Amino acid sequence: MGLLDRAGARLTAQPEDAEILVVNTCSFIDSAKQESVSTILEMARHKASGRAKKLIVAGCLVERYRDEIQKSIPEVDAVVGTGELESVLKAAGLEPGSAPAAPSPFTILTTAHAAVRSGKEALSGTHKSRAEGDARERSGRFLRDAWAGASSTLPTYLYDETTPRLISTPRASAYIKIAEGCDHPCTFCVIPNLRGKFRSRRFESVVAEAEQLVARGVSEITLIGQDTTCYGEDLGFKDGLAALLDTLARIPNLKWLRFLYAYPNRITGKLLETIARHENICKYLDLPLQHASPGVLKRMKRGASADIFLKTLSKVRAAVPGVALRTSFIVGFPGESIRDFELLEEFIKEAKFDWLGVFNYSHEEGSAAYALEEQLPQRTIESRRRRLMKLQQSISRRQKKNWVGREFTLLAEGPSTETPLLWEGRTEFHAPEIDGKVFINDFGPLAELEPGRYYRALVTESHDYDLVARIVSPES
Ligand code: SF4
Repeated sequence: MGLLDRAGARLTAQPEDAEILVVNTCSFIDSAKQESVSTILEMARHKASGRAKKLIVAGCLVERYRDEIQKSIPEVDAVVGTGELESVLKAAGLEPGSAPAAPSPFTILTTAHAAVRSGKEALSGTHKSRAEGDARERSGRFLRDAWAGASSTLPTYLYDETTPRLISTPRASAYIKIAEGCDHPCTFCVIPNLRGKFRSRRFESVVAEAEQLVARGVSEITLIGQDTTCYGEDLGFKDGLAALLDTLARIPNLKWLRFLYAYPNRITGKLLETIARHENICKYLDLPLQHASPGVLKRMKRGASADIFLKTLSKVRAAVPGVALRTSFIVGFPGESIRDFELLEEFIKEAKFDWLGVFNYSHEEGSAAYALEEQLPQRTIESRRRRLMKLQQSISRRQKKNWVGREFTLLAEGPSTETPLLWEGRTEFHAPEIDGKVFINDFGPLAELEPGRYYRALVTESHDYDLVARIVSPES
């Protein structure tokens, strides 16, 4: 977005107004690919009926199906892989730094996989229009025919603090990618094929970007990467993430700082001590564990077991009192027996996560697990996923009751997307976009709230995943 903006294009939120449409795709599991292709096909309709002149497909789907996309979807004008972001300008017919007399409106649609979100949307179906249904049918055909093997050249691109950037998240909150790629050998995962070898951004570059964002009014920063806990290993740092957090936490006016996607055996004492020491580092840890049965974890090439994970969780909870824990699991990995699954259930009961997402195993060409036999029927996989979500729903309902009557700092995000009668907000224990919500039904002594501002709030009700709160006062 930043590159297009600097070259004179203007962002619009309405695809029907855009002359340049960019679909930024995800393709690590089947449902993500489906969503990506459906979005491309939906946007292709704007070339026939709207103002669109260019349809560009960017991101991970390009790394997997580069040639097939253009061959099978002729409406697509250009593709931009994860390692060639700057070529989006050529694809859009723009020159770097040249501002055209009449700026072209552009829109970027980012597709992502919804099952990672915990809670009610993961349990319920979603309504699809007939056009969406047609697009889904065409996308299914595309995906059945398209596999062309993993990309032979791995991307090496890394952005830095000088890369132009438009912020699409609400003004107070921004993500910073601190590293790209992954060197872990997880057998179910094709992400290393799509994103390349693990490489960290320079320490100074991340700090400079964070300072720039805070100067632009951002008060919450979320650090991301395929594995944030490996940050700096390739640059020769030990405990690089802890050092980075320690430096970023000192930026004046940075209210909340967090990181996502920690690898379980990379949680060091130094990292936990750093989280505990700084008031503005959110007491929140996202630790995708994938499974708890030692046999399944071994075949996933992740190692460990429920006992080892429980020790890790105890260590985290002792070092960072009150920490909120998120994790995600995969059900239906090849050969997952009923006993393996029950071990996972027992582990979830014992571990009591605050937030939990469950993925159905997706059989991906190019992954090491693709060669494994003993595939489970889709029906079994889906019923196991639902069983875990039901279990977590009851754990979450009990845990959320403990919030009632307690006061928290709340970031007000704006009127609720679910009902105009309420506002929505988050505490430090809710990461942006992914965890449950805090609904605000009473502004207390205030006539109105301001999105992006922090307030003290009292939790008055709890539901399965969400909370209801009353504003007590502005945060001093
Ligand atoms: S650590 Fe994450 S991104 Fe890396 S291979 Fe494993 S699942 Fe994939």
